[in-house]
Amino acid sequence: MNEMLKQLTEAVGVAGEEKEVRLMIRDLIAPHVDEWRVDAMGNLLALKKGTGELAWRVMVDAHMDEVGLMISAIESDGSLSFLPVGGLDSRTLLGKVVQVGPKKITGVIGARPVHQLTAAQRNSIVGVDAMRIDIGASKREDAAGRVNLGDRAAFVTSYEEQGMVAFGKALDNRAGCAALVELLRGEPYPFDLHAAFTVQEEVGLRGAQVAGYAVNPDVALVLECTPAYDLPNERDVSPNVVLGRGPSIYVMDSRAIQDPRLVAHILRTADANGLPYQVRQPGGGGTNTGSIQRAQAGVPAATIATPARFLHTPAGMIHLEDFANVIKLAEATLRSLTPALFQR
Ligand SMILES: [Zn+2]
Repeated sequence: MNEMLKQLTEAVGVAGEEKEVRLMIRDLIAPHVDEWRVDAMGNLLALKKGTGELAWRVMVDAHMDEVGLMISAIESDGSLSFLPVGGLDSRTLLGKVVQVGPKKITGVIGARPVHQLTAAQRNSIVGVDAMRIDIGASKREDAAGRVNLGDRAAFVTSYEEQGMVAFGKALDNRAGCAALVELLRGEPYPFDLHAAFTVQEEVGLRGAQVAGYAVNPDVALVLECTPAYDLPNERDVSPNVVLGRGPSIYVMDSRAIQDPRLVAHILRTADANGLPYQVRQPGGGGTNTGSIQRAQAGVPAATIATPARFLHTPAGMIHLEDFANVIKLAEATLRSLTPALFQR
């Protein structure tokens, strides 16, 4: 059992409320870094000093936040209305157990039992505006003592491993966080390594925007978890990213064109080390590369991601070999970085 993935995915850190995850990561990295601090937005920024071989600042980012819900109203019957925080598909929510607010009050996203549904209701999609979280309160006053407007609600999912796959919530992006912790546990790098565990990625790459500005690195690598798109589909059977086929390398998404020199270096490094990889089909989505590459005067940046099925739902799935290979590929990429790679 990967204890770090278990610990980090079961922790709660819906965007804007990352403290529980941040404290956990701080304790994990403290023995392996020279200094760390928390900035105004809540990013955890750590420095692992280099050997002095290369006068460079290299940033490695992993966002700490996860998608979830925010309480938007306490209704007269004691039920809770909510808004999505980050990109959620309402079809994955009904009937799921959540933990609400700092006291982790248990609730369930109410769903009418199948016995009481008409045929038309069974075929319709329910939007979040029609859903409520039920914490067992019978009137507003009862719920108001335990829950506040603006409280987050997070999914409740125990981390499990079965053979080489792992199930859990928030693998996006605790898988990236765990990979970055592993990179910090290694020997010093030729350059100063600035680790940025960032906040609020799921609501628009916000934490990385200020972290990139503050660190102002020469190069940046983003560690992510990306959707595997490998399930049977009637009209499109061409796979994009497939579980178990290796780290996913971004080229272009809706927020960034990855630095082509850094992408080429990553691919060469994978080939040279016999590591599997898959180039992610260019298209939608976005990672913190979109923020960091535009910090200050610009930063060459690229993304390496662990593929996962069912991202942004209460239970995702990764292949543990992909996760291990993301760490190996990121480390080999970092240790072979040279300024010559970036000459025009
Ligand atoms: Zn993510």
